[in-house]
Amino acid sequence: MKELTCIVVGGGYAGINAVKAIRKTFSSEAHQFLIRIVLIDKNSYHLRKVLLFKPAAGNDDIIIPLARLFPEGIELIQATVTKIEREARRLYYKDSEGNENFINYNVLVMTLGSIIRKPDTQQGGVALASLEEAQKIRETWRTNLKKAVNEINTQERQRLMTIAIAGAGISGIETSAELAHFVRKDAQQLGLIPSDVKIYLFNMNKRLFPEGPAKVGVKLERAIEACGVTVIHDCKVLEEREGALTLSYGKTMSVGLCIWTLGLLPNPMLRSIGMPVNSDGYVIVDESYRVQDAQDVYSIGDCARIVDPSGRADGKTCKEATAQAARLAKILAADLTGRPAPVHKGFIDFFCFGLGPEQGIAWTRKWGIDVIFTGKLGWRMRKVTWDLASLLK
Ligand SMILES: Cc1cc2nc3c(=O)[nH]c(=O)nc-3n(C[C@H](O)[C@H](O)[C@H](O)COP(=O)(O)OP(=O)(O)OC[C@H]3O[C@@H](n4cnc5c(N)ncnc54)[C@H](O)[C@@H]3O)c2cc1C
Repeated sequence: MKELTCIVVGGGYAGINAVKAIRKTFSSEAHQFLIRIVLIDKNSYHLRKVLLFKPAAGNDDIIIPLARLFPEGIELIQATVTKIEREARRLYYKDSEGNENFINYNVLVMTLGSIIRKPDTQQGGVALASLEEAQKIRETWRTNLKKAVNEINTQERQRLMTIAIAGAGISGIETSAELAHFVRKDAQQLGLIPSDVKIYLFNMNKRLFPEGPAKVGVKLERAIEACGVTVIHDCKVLEEREGALTLSYGKTMSVGLCIWTLGLLPNPMLRSIGMPVNSDGYVIVDESYRVQDAQDVYSIGDCARIVDPSGRADGKTCKEATAQAARLAKILAADLTGRPAPVHKGFIDFFCFGLGPEQGIAWTRKWGIDVIFTGKLGWRMRKVTWDLASLLK
């Protein structure tokens, strides 16, 4: 039996699901290959990125050690990939101690994901872009509440109890709802009036959830307003300086904390390590995720530009990454045995939002009909999706 080394780079949603699917596909006895699977990530853990708002509000743990996800059968390397030599089929990396090394591959799967967009440093505030930043956000609002307890100046007390969230995509919506719950709860415990906590969500669009129907946007807005969040549409936050927020229509507002949730950008490392990328910075792949001009190299997830046969680009969310990973394993098996490989198909329209503890909204569209789940059911669907994507079920 021929042994092949398949390296998956990136232990995010696409990477861990790819490892699982490849292992399952090639463990079937029908395959003529023995696959050695190596998973490389700069961290020793899988970060449940979609839950980043959780440690900003509470003390949830959102990392899972890769060794716990894959206790056996997969080689794990904690290292940052720095270069690919496509001709030589060699991958260079720097490990966590700074040592440089390389590894040869037969098949390479690149799932380097995206990075979270941040404002310029002079724009102030804290971007919800990493675990450390989520923890900094939590520390800041908790410190502000403690200061508010002894503050006799009512305006200053109100400022300390006001939080602005700039960016009203899924992350901004979920962050605002979660904070509304936890900050109010802490305020009450400290003897403050919970309703004095003001949370503003700034949306540069005219409504929430422009990716879906207007009625879902309205439902979302009502749900987060019921949590105590004020949504301000058609307004951009320009900067936060020493507690003063400057808004696009010239107004200012006093805040104790400004959180940026500005969406995603392609991983800039893709260019420097030698992947072919388009003008937006996404890896160029064909309909079966094969990277352009790179034999036996594939790419899926946020880092790749994947389009369906109608030309529609796949979304950059977990559900797409997970579906692509399952298809990729079949593509690899087909390519290695010379059979026709499956091609990409778009995922159904489906979005779900966590709106504080045990509350959520899920929306899908089937045969042109909108199906919406709200409340506890919406939240349960959200939780199942989160858990499945992180291989917890
Ligand atoms: C705040 C936030 C909220 C979100 N909310 C949702 C949501 O509610 N629902 C949803 O479906 N999607 C959501 N998304 C999008 C979702 O997180 C992404 O679509 C998903 O993470 C894509 O998975 P991925 O594996 O392609 O990339 P990632 O999850 O980003 O994983 C990339 C991996 O590559 C590793 N890596 C990067 N560079 C290197 C390197 N040079 N060497 C080694 N390892 C490297 C990283 O450490 C990481 O583990 C959200 C994203 C953010 C940031």
